[in-house]
Amino acid sequence: MCLIYITFTRKYLHGFFLTNVECFNGVLKGARFYPVTALVQLTFYCVMAYFNKRRDEIGATLGRGERYTKYALDKLSHWGKAAGGHNVTLVNHENGTFEVTAARGYHLRKRSNKQVVKLEAPRCTCMKWQCFGIPCSHVQAVCASVAIDHCQYIESYYRLSVYSQCYATNFQPIPHEDYWPNARVPHTLLPDPSRKRVKRGRPQTRRLRTEMDWRGNQKQPRHMQQEKEWRENPTTLRCSKCKQDGHNMRTCSRRQQEQPPNGP
Ligand SMILES: [Zn+2]
Ligand SMILES: [Zn+2]
Repeated sequence: MCLIYITFTRKYLHGFFLTNVECFNGVLKGARFYPVTALVQLTFYCVMAYFNKRRDEIGATLGRGERYTKYALDKLSHWGKAAGGHNVTLVNHENGTFEVTAARGYHLRKRSNKQVVKLEAPRCTCMKWQCFGIPCSHVQAVCASVAIDHCQYIESYYRLSVYSQCYATNFQPIPHEDYWPNARVPHTLLPDPSRKRVKRGRPQTRRLRTEMDWRGNQKQPRHMQQEKEWRENPTTLRCSKCKQDGHNMRTCSRRQQEQPPNGP
């Protein structure tokens, strides 16, 4: 039940956003291999406890006067350490384009020590801003050079007021089963026979059983029973060979005479 958010903000696909979203696998770890009712109950109470815990944490953080999540602030300060050494050059004032040169020189992994920041776009060629929604060191350097607050470029989902909305849902208590309202099922639910799985084990044989297959302890096949009945009460039989009553073609004496004695 891992949640993956893809953030579409300001008409740009900024990337996969996994940082601020919790993976519920850890929360529900104990809820495996239980009967269904116990499984649902455990899941419900685990999620409810988790929501309450998160709500308390967010409330305490808001009480300290913080506006953004710890994750966003940590990343901002981590990247901000490099911002002091950046050299900012204004390229276009109208659309807010800047060139930012890092003081550290050419970096093999980052390919270039020069990045282009477009505040209006909003983009930085290092891609961190687009990917995380948090201003990178280049954007922070640009903001410092033109004396604006870089916090305005943090995405709204890092704001504690927005973050707390995720856990705003109120859980309803589950009363005893005796107090539950009667479930109204409008239709009887029937399985689709075309989607039925083939049974496990040996498939049912389609072989037509004859006297050869019959053993004494088994029930006789239907046609053998019928033949036995006809033998005992032969009035209904009429031979197609000699047109006489009392036997059929297989037991016809005339047919047996016509066949060669050692024939097939
Ligand atoms: Zn950047
Ligand atoms: Zn006959």
